[in-house]
Amino acid sequence: MKGCQADFLSKDRDWKLVISESFCDLGELLEYCEIDPSRASFTGKHDFAFRVTRYYASLIEKRNALDPLLLQVLPDAREFQLVDGYSEDAVGDKQAMAVPGLIHKYHGRVLLTLTGACAIHCRYCFRRHFAYSESSVDYRMNGQVMTYLSENPDVSEVILSGGDPLMVSDDKLARLISSLNRIPHIRVLRFHSRLLSVLPERISVNLLEVLKQFSGQVVFVTHINHPNEISAHNQAAFRLLAQDGYQVFNQSVLLKGVNDSSQILSDLSNKLFESHVIPYYLHRLDRVQGAAHFDISKQESCRIYQQLRSSLPGYLLPTLVEEVAGQSSKTPVHCD
Ligand code: SF4
Repeated sequence: MKGCQADFLSKDRDWKLVISESFCDLGELLEYCEIDPSRASFTGKHDFAFRVTRYYASLIEKRNALDPLLLQVLPDAREFQLVDGYSEDAVGDKQAMAVPGLIHKYHGRVLLTLTGACAIHCRYCFRRHFAYSESSVDYRMNGQVMTYLSENPDVSEVILSGGDPLMVSDDKLARLISSLNRIPHIRVLRFHSRLLSVLPERISVNLLEVLKQFSGQVVFVTHINHPNEISAHNQAAFRLLAQDGYQVFNQSVLLKGVNDSSQILSDLSNKLFESHVIPYYLHRLDRVQGAAHFDISKQESCRIYQQLRSSLPGYLLPTLVEEVAGQSSKTPVHCD
């Protein structure tokens, strides 16, 4: 049987209550998934928080220590190895932080780090060492972030990120949207959120009402790496967004042992499309300290990508990219 029983799922439950029931102890997650905790590479010690929602855990195959969803969240002893070429700030966030909480890397758009909180903590996260406590957004109109936005008329898009911006309460999101509405050149609000897929309860009637308050366009980018992460529950959440006219894109990270096969990625693209989600980016791993065991060489990445290209129609093929600190855009990986 794929996955554990998921009778506890209900889209009517309060999402904060659902978050509070998450696994925050590795031993409890392993017990739930009926996996032997004595496996050598697992570690109860970690310098990056551990959290897994019960919904995500319900999709992990029982008694499978190599389950691709489990591997994404499993603290591993190799996270403590210092590896050449890997750093704490792999994508140059620090140097691009214009004011606390606002990262301005690319023309026309800025990214706000609203919170360090996430519903699940992915072990390969490129912000696993990010100093969120020094980089929080001030929601007031006269705060530094809003002043920066007001004074930069070439910025037309604000990307809400983190952490996960949907970990922020609806009230705070409404206040932020109200502030952004007072800056006429901000026309697009983009949410980068993994909650869409790992906590479907978050797409509530109240959130949909808050989103309607933005005067421009709202767009979502979610983060799904493997087709097993998609079920009827998060498909229902994606359908709610589609019914209200929101476009949802997906970005994945190419991860060793998780999705390093063109068949898996092809299945993912097809399942995303069935779920009203468009495959957008396939990222090579950001070289952040603690994640080197997920890396795949460029040659192998290209081999997988070329097979993927020959198995999908163009509109389902994500673009293979990597992020190079200091560049003016994501860098396409040239495989030919
Ligand atoms: S959900 Fe996103 S920000 Fe949060 S740990 Fe995963 S990759 Fe990092």
